Amino acid sequence: MAETHILNGIPAAPGLASGPIFKVQKQSLTIPHYTITDPAAEKQRLKKARASAIEELKGLRDAVKAQAKEKEAEIFDAHMMFLEDDSLVSLAESDIEAGKNAEAAWMDAIETIAQQLEAIPDATLSARAVDLRDVGQRVLGHLMGVQAHGIKPDRPAIIVSRDLTPSDTVSLERAVTLGFVTAEGGPTSHTAILAKAFGLPAVVGLGEELLAIPEDAFLLVDGNTGAVIVNPDEKTKAAFAQKQAASSKVFQAALSAAFEPAVTRDGKSVEVVANIGNEADAHMANQNGAEGVGLFRTEFLYLDRKAMPSEEESIETYRKIFAHFEGQPIVVRTLDIGGDKEIPYLDFPKELNPFLGWRGVRMLHGREDLLRTQVRALLQAGVGVDLRIMVPMIALQEEVDEMKSLIAHEKENLRREQKPVAEKVQFGIMVEVPSAAILSDRLARSIDFFSIGTNDLTQYTLAVDRTNAQVAHLASTFNPAVLFLIQRTIDSAHAADKWCGLCGEFAGESLAVPILLGMGLDEFSMSPARIPLVKQLIRQLDSAECRLLADQVLAVSTAEEVKALIKAFLSERQVNLD
Ligand code: PEP
Ligand code: MG
Repeated sequence: MAETHILNGIPAAPGLASGPIFKVQKQSLTIPHYTITDPAAEKQRLKKARASAIEELKGLRDAVKAQAKEKEAEIFDAHMMFLEDDSLVSLAESDIEAGKNAEAAWMDAIETIAQQLEAIPDATLSARAVDLRDVGQRVLGHLMGVQAHGIKPDRPAIIVSRDLTPSDTVSLERAVTLGFVTAEGGPTSHTAILAKAFGLPAVVGLGEELLAIPEDAFLLVDGNTGAVIVNPDEKTKAAFAQKQAASSKVFQAALSAAFEPAVTRDGKSVEVVANIGNEADAHMANQNGAEGVGLFRTEFLYLDRKAMPSEEESIETYRKIFAHFEGQPIVVRTLDIGGDKEIPYLDFPKELNPFLGWRGVRMLHGREDLLRTQVRALLQAGVGVDLRIMVPMIALQEEVDEMKSLIAHEKENLRREQKPVAEKVQFGIMVEVPSAAILSDRLARSIDFFSIGTNDLTQYTLAVDRTNAQVAHLASTFNPAVLFLIQRTIDSAHAADKWCGLCGEFAGESLAVPILLGMGLDEFSMSPARIPLVKQLIRQLDSAECRLLADQVLAVSTAEEVKALIKAFLSERQVNLD
């Protein structure tokens, strides 16, 4: 019997999968190198191969679009953009003029640019190198007359690969793909985004060890935690199968009550809303019983384009998304570019410490025009909508004042221009920088609501870069230092008669829910997939008991002690976790 071992990676798409593996041996083409004498003909050959690749990509895009996955289909538009990129093409062409054959010139150009992308200390941008190499291989295949094949396991299996490209992911034979695991890759890659959209459990970044597992290995994949068990014994397999059955039963039960309100046993109701970034998320939020939107990450609308959308185009886009949430509150966050979210065409300066740099609201100084256009579009699209505008990365009172005056100014301008303008718009800020949490009693006077961004609040409180896997184990939102700031922010909002939400990943974590309820949180905003389960959990709890638990966890010193207290609390009450 093969040896059992556990690999730990980065959870990329939730869910549980178990099964035999299908190892993808990427057929890597050997690039021919020779000297050419007719550069014009060689350039023509490259042009033809690029044109065929574009045709192929159009087909892929349309196939994905036909499954109502508009956003995912756009990934292939981005691939087509690479193929039309002047700098890439001219790099290859100048090598051809110097006597290189098209295959060698093209692949050298791809590699040069891919390496430049990888050198940027930014997870989103460096992940684009995968897309670029994918495009490179596609054109190479056409140059060499080799047809690209989709990944087609001959039986239901978990795909094991060094990395998967977006084209691989889309071409996976869905009926026989149980999930996928990769040695490389990050959670913000397009591949991870696609896996989530297709409902495939996935774990990435498992390291070289994954590639060494035997062809006949059997895997248990936990897309929620990132744990992968290789060749489990029968007992572990049976326990996992039980967990799968239980979790699907729990989810189905939760889903059937997803449209019921989230009210605790003692009658306290809270709002459960969705974090969205595009229309596909909006669909899922609707299906899963979201009571509105607690965080619309607008920066995702700006990726994979060549230029900033105009005011008119933005109005259209916002209207389309708002239409999904008629009569429900929608919190839209103004652009949060910077940190790990880059928009290439904006050409922002490279920084040594992007998370501590020119990010979010700090754009007011330097690119105020981008925020003005966005605010104008929101105010116009927001007529008849319960719109709430939220500003990210607030660290200072001055930033709150400046943003409020920008919004007031644009309202005035729109009125003067006799354009439609949403009059009753709540104004809120994200509390994700420790200074904002500390000053929250004062900031509360200037806002309508707070929404706590625990992803960033945790990284800034504990000084742990949220994209650095080496220090990831130090960053727990359960750390009492972070919990202290959360409690302080909620108390400050309430003392000023304002409401407080939380839109970091923490709001959707089952263990976090009882303490957040106890701390008095008004609104829980999370990935749409978590909504039915969190609502179900809230209905099993008593808010007064949760208050006592919150007091207990705030008094201990470590994240582990906090979690132990919560687990004991839940098990005493026989509350099942998903
Ligand atoms: C956060 O920081 O918690 C948050 C919700 O924002 P983002 O993850 O987009 O930075
Ligand atoms: Mg944030």
